[in-house]
Amino acid sequence: MKVTVDLAKCDGYANCVAAAPGVFDVSDDTGKVIVLTGRLDEESSQGVVEAVRDCPMRALSVEGPS
Ligand code: SF4
Repeated sequence: MKVTVDLAKCDGYANCVAAAPGVFDVSDDTGKVIVLTGRLDEESSQGVVEAVRDCPMRALSVEGPS
């Protein structure tokens, strides 16, 4: 599974950080999301699915097998 971020949509709400703290962070400089790792194990994949669902800006998407 690969996570994709549309930075033009991201507004720094950090819901994704709450859902998957090992995968996402919000930059102090830009106020936008940072993807910390491209490696998604089973646990972090679950968090990423929650993050996609919880992002109020619909800035996150996933593709590929889960
Ligand atoms: S929840 Fe969405 S809008 Fe908020 S920081 Fe994450 S990607 Fe950006």
